[in-house]
Amino acid sequence: MMISQAMSDRLNEQVKNEFYSFYLYLAMAYAFEKMNLPIFAKWFFLQADEEREHAMKMAQYILDQGGEVKLAGLPDPKTDYKSAQEIVSDALEHEQLVTRQVGEIADLAIKENDHATRQFIDWFVAEQVEEVKSASELLELVKMADTPGRLLMLEGRLVHMRKGMV
Ligand code: MG
Repeated sequence: MMISQAMSDRLNEQVKNEFYSFYLYLAMAYAFEKMNLPIFAKWFFLQADEEREHAMKMAQYILDQGGEVKLAGLPDPKTDYKSAQEIVSDALEHEQLVTRQVGEIADLAIKENDHATRQFIDWFVAEQVEEVKSASELLELVKMADTPGRLLMLEGRLVHMRKGMV
């Protein structure tokens, strides 16, 4: 194996965290479906797909470095959301958490002089800037949409804000 055991363990933990993100965003998408906000739901289904790709990208890197991928059980995601704002606010908080997790991996790579992992994780560092920005913008929009009618109008705008929405 070309990476340390500690790094392999930490990357495997992040594979789980990324799959948990997938699961969390699916739960959020279903909550939006239940609120009759299908465009928000679509947004979160797409977000979930991206998280699954993140998990698999990280798992592939462990394999490429001669490590073993060990999948672990996922916690139950929250399902009892009361409002669109609550969901998007949780999504932003979650992306801030993932940013810290990715930062820990970058710290470990630097500490271990593991140049390959440091370069690999840079993609995730940049991705998290986008994820936090996107979730923050969505939260600002949802905060402005303070009536059901305005939420429906916001859905019309979301269609144009992300690739794959139509
Ligand atoms: Mg991710």
